[in-house]
Amino acid sequence: MIVTVASGKGGTGKTTVAVNLALSIGAELCSDLLFLDCDVEEPNAGLFLNPVIEERREASQMIPQVDLETCTYCGRCAEVCQYHAIAVVGEKVLIFPELCHACGSCGLSCPTGAIHEVPDVIGTIERGYAAVEEENPGIEFAQGTLNVGEPMAVPIIRQLKQWTISSGPDDRPVILDASPGTACPVVESMRGADFVLMVTEPTPFGLHDLRLAVEVARDELGLPVGVVINRDGVGDRGVDDYCAAESIPILMRIPLERRIAEAYSEGTPLTTIQPAYRARFVELWQRIADLVG
Ligand code: SF4
Ligand code: SF4
Repeated sequence: MIVTVASGKGGTGKTTVAVNLALSIGAELCSDLLFLDCDVEEPNAGLFLNPVIEERREASQMIPQVDLETCTYCGRCAEVCQYHAIAVVGEKVLIFPELCHACGSCGLSCPTGAIHEVPDVIGTIERGYAAVEEENPGIEFAQGTLNVGEPMAVPIIRQLKQWTISSGPDDRPVILDASPGTACPVVESMRGADFVLMVTEPTPFGLHDLRLAVEVARDELGLPVGVVINRDGVGDRGVDDYCAAESIPILMRIPLERRIAEAYSEGTPLTTIQPAYRARFVELWQRIADLVG
């Protein structure tokens, strides 16, 4: 079962839920769990899981390169590029890698075959193991990191998934910690999941962004969704009312507590300071499994 943990807005406790879910399942249910930190612009799950990284690779995307010997400067490549990543000015072909989505259209459209693709390094992907407890071999951990200034997170997430999910056993539990928001990197993190777990807070801001995230996951991608309300007790009943109206199950509530916030700021998992939460996260996983069927 593949579960993506997402949130419409940042700061809702998404990584807290993803990490503690992984630690709890890894300790109580199985030792064959894969955890992916797909928040490649700001990966921080490793701060809580303290993984030992065993393998690291460059992540790249293919961008066009023009052979000026065979280019006729016809401008066809610039016409077909939806992202304005290539321009033909007189006898110059300008390529803007930061705008390129590596769709390949320019190469396919070039009448003289002057365009070929070359890899452009945009970040790294790495994997290793994170210890759950002393006698437990741990969970497989992987993360991607986008180089500073690079705008395209999707290729890294895609390569991270191919490297880990696609090359591992089909039936093992996988937890993906998505980036906040509803942009393309989040969609890529949700794609292929069996379930999307939304983490929100019971405030008008939380509700607004939860709606957007549900629109993407459930309405656009057709995935089942459920909600964890973090900092329960602050705010109002808007999220509860919305979930009831939309038949979205609220699967867990984590109260607003100073000690939980302190532990987060120290990089200490919730299940370490309050071990009783381990059973609650296992129960959360089992409820998701029931919903997925
Ligand atoms: S389509 Fe090919 S030949 Fe035409 S300008 Fe672009 S690279 Fe040159
Ligand atoms: S690969 Fe696609 S996005 Fe990149 S320059 Fe060519 S047409 Fe534009």
